[in-house]
Amino acid sequence: MATESDGSKKNFFSSAFKLVYRLIIFVVLLVIVGLLLMTKIQSLMQEEVEEMLAKQAEITAQVARDRFNFELDNLRQNALTLTMLPSSNLLQGIEQAGALWGVVDINGNLISGTALPEITRSQMSSAMTGTSLIKYYNGLGLVFSTPVYYGSNIRFVLYRIYNDQALKERRFRIQNELGNDTFICDSKSGKVIVPSVNFDSESHFYDKARHLPIGHDEILELLKTKDAAALYSPAIDPHFAIYGAEISGDFVIIGYTDWDSVISGILNTHKIILWVFGILILLIGIYMLYSFNSELKLAESDELREAKENADRANKAKSEFLANMSHEIRTPLNAVLGMNEMILRETQDNSQIHKYAWNVKSASETLLSLINDILDFSKIESGKMKIVESTYYLSSVVNDIFNMMRFKAEQKGLEFKIDVDETVPDTLFGDEVRIRQVIVNILNNAVKYTQQGTVTFRVTGKRMADGNVLMQFSSIDTGIGIREEDMGKLFSKFERLDLQKNRTVEGTGLGLSITMNLVKMMGGELKVESVYGKGSTFTILLPQKVEKYEPIGDFRQRAESFIDQERNYQESFIAPDAEILVVDDSEMNLFVVENLLKRTQIQVTRSMSGKDCLEKIAEHHYDIVFLDHMMPEMDGIETLERAQKLENSQCKDTPFIALTANAISGVREMFISKGFNDYLSKPVDSKELERMIQKYLPEEKIHSADEDVPPEESESETNSEAVENSEVDTGSENKVTSNENISEAVEKNPEQTSDENSEAVDKYIDVDLAMQYCGGMEDLFKEFIGMFCNRQAETVQKITEAFDSENWNDYTVHVHALKSTSLSVGGKILSETARASELAGRALLDKNDTSQLDFIKENHPKILKLYDDFVAEAKSRQLY
Ligand code: ADP
Repeated sequence: MATESDGSKKNFFSSAFKLVYRLIIFVVLLVIVGLLLMTKIQSLMQEEVEEMLAKQAEITAQVARDRFNFELDNLRQNALTLTMLPSSNLLQGIEQAGALWGVVDINGNLISGTALPEITRSQMSSAMTGTSLIKYYNGLGLVFSTPVYYGSNIRFVLYRIYNDQALKERRFRIQNELGNDTFICDSKSGKVIVPSVNFDSESHFYDKARHLPIGHDEILELLKTKDAAALYSPAIDPHFAIYGAEISGDFVIIGYTDWDSVISGILNTHKIILWVFGILILLIGIYMLYSFNSELKLAESDELREAKENADRANKAKSEFLANMSHEIRTPLNAVLGMNEMILRETQDNSQIHKYAWNVKSASETLLSLINDILDFSKIESGKMKIVESTYYLSSVVNDIFNMMRFKAEQKGLEFKIDVDETVPDTLFGDEVRIRQVIVNILNNAVKYTQQGTVTFRVTGKRMADGNVLMQFSSIDTGIGIREEDMGKLFSKFERLDLQKNRTVEGTGLGLSITMNLVKMMGGELKVESVYGKGSTFTILLPQKVEKYEPIGDFRQRAESFIDQERNYQESFIAPDAEILVVDDSEMNLFVVENLLKRTQIQVTRSMSGKDCLEKIAEHHYDIVFLDHMMPEMDGIETLERAQKLENSQCKDTPFIALTANAISGVREMFISKGFNDYLSKPVDSKELERMIQKYLPEEKIHSADEDVPPEESESETNSEAVENSEVDTGSENKVTSNENISEAVEKNPEQTSDENSEAVDKYIDVDLAMQYCGGMEDLFKEFIGMFCNRQAETVQKITEAFDSENWNDYTVHVHALKSTSLSVGGKILSETARASELAGRALLDKNDTSQLDFIKENHPKILKLYDDFVAEAKSRQLY
């Protein structure tokens, strides 16, 4: 079985799993985004750095260009000087300049200085056309050339050579901000013309195999389209960026700079990004933990909600169970109390049976009050208890309570005192039923927990500022009292105190809890004072609206007169002209009501369904209609609704009184709201029933019994009837006369002693059980069983039709009916078998549990067979 802690562990793990799962997704996303961002930033920064390097390269190229131009300008200057000198001086001058100078005439003939190889011819030709040029030749070096004018004619070309050795000297070497690794190279071949400041033969910027600077191909390629470019490619060199710029068409600078130092900005940015991402991950982690925590809380609150729902469901199930229980228990209790009431009436006061009947009455009433307590408790627990206020007479409440409690107290040998403030108003507005209940509760306790002395019922009241009254009902006893330390537990449910002393006292520990709740619901207060061993005072303070300021007066006198009235009322009331209709699907209930009213001579008409009731009221006028609530097909409420709409109803002004065995919450208010004039709770109390009839019957139909039919007369009639009956009964050997006699009759029946029939005897019919359900009324039993057997064909037809047409709803309804009818006539096995099919039918209908079908199909023939067996046994035992 899964426990609650299993559930919460499961929730914890699922939440933790969710958290880890989300965390992973977030981190992965973050890393991807971070990487993309970093790559993008890196490439942007790289582009930026490359651009910056290219600009630097351009500046460096300009420096180189300046130098070249400076040299060329110098040469031009020299050429000008030459023009101004006589030729001999020129040649002399060139000679003096050294080997690196030379002059050729327009035919290319060396005039003076160092001769040039053939490869320089085109450069010289260009000079002849007036162009100053700088060109590099492998093995020769850098050659600067310029024309020498005489007037506007060119007569010579002056040139100067810087061989490779000279170029290695510091003159042309480039220094710039990016470091000292900038070369001047030939733009086509890439060959280094002027090495860098840091040049040495081992420079790693040289591709040793090719004698070229590393990466120059790539830079030269870029320089084809741009004047300056820079490039970082780890493939070329992982630590250096290469940059280049054009000096002139033939020369470029190519330089190298430490990538890390120029990229340090990017690296810093990377670090910042890493930090930002680190902090982001941290924040997300914190958020995750927070959301995990709140998810756990949410899960917890889900669990709590679920637990609450479960508790509500359980509570509802409990209420339903109690409602069903009340119905199930109250119905047979109704029969017990009703039958007992008849026994009490029809037996002599001093007979043993009369005494037994009194015991039955007292035990049944205790049971009933217990059931009522449990029902009230369940109503309060489920919040369904309602306070229903109406006008009531305090004198009547006090009077009833006085009657009831005085009797109880005196039976226990206690003195019961009543002390009512004569000035309190009599006509009040409040929930009379609940007020009676709470007062009776504290007085009952006073009687229960007092062994000797007095129980006093005190009623006082104080006028409140708003004109209403604060009623004060006290129960003062000289009983066992309550220990100081037990006072706190007094109102806890199911809590009973001082069990050693109270073990013989009946109780559930619910009374005070119910009382406290009800008093609070009515806006009142319950106070207790007690001295252990001396006695207790329970006081109920209740604000009540005053309807009339007429004082209650001398209560004792009133109470006495009430008692007299009561006495008269009980014994003298008859109404032979009155006609009442009692509608109930249970024949036994009809029987009970009918018999309880036998003494009043009221004409009772029975009806067993709502439909039949409607037919009857359309045909005939009744003075009162008692209508059962729970009936198949058309229940009491629907019947009343239809009755009110019935055009040809003969009972338009007839009071309708609901009968209910289901005393679950809200019933009282519900019946009134549905149009009933009143309601009577089952088990029907004969006094209540008579009081109700007196209240609703037209006055002219109520007579004192003394007027017409003296009670003695009717008593003697009954007795003579009984004698007649007993005479008839004893006249026939096989006739069933009582429960005991039935068994005897069976035993005496010669036919049933045969082996064949003995099997049937007592097998399918439990006569004792049936007699219990029939309240020991053998006539009723005979009537019932006869009816049951005679209806076999009809019942079987209904069940079989539903079975054949696979109408499982009807089938369940029919087997349900068979279950209860068969039980009431003692058909225990048949009832059980029908019940099994009913349960299967319910499971099939409610839960769509089709697996039940096999069982229903298998059980169906058994039910029919058992019905046959029952009837056969009833016939063979001559039970009807
Ligand atoms: P119970 O059904 O046990 O009487 P109650 O809720 O009415 O339940 O009372 C709770 C407990 O309070 C009782 O079991 C009893 O111990 C104590 N108690 C109630 N009324 C009195 C009283 N008048 N005197 C002494 N003890 C009392």
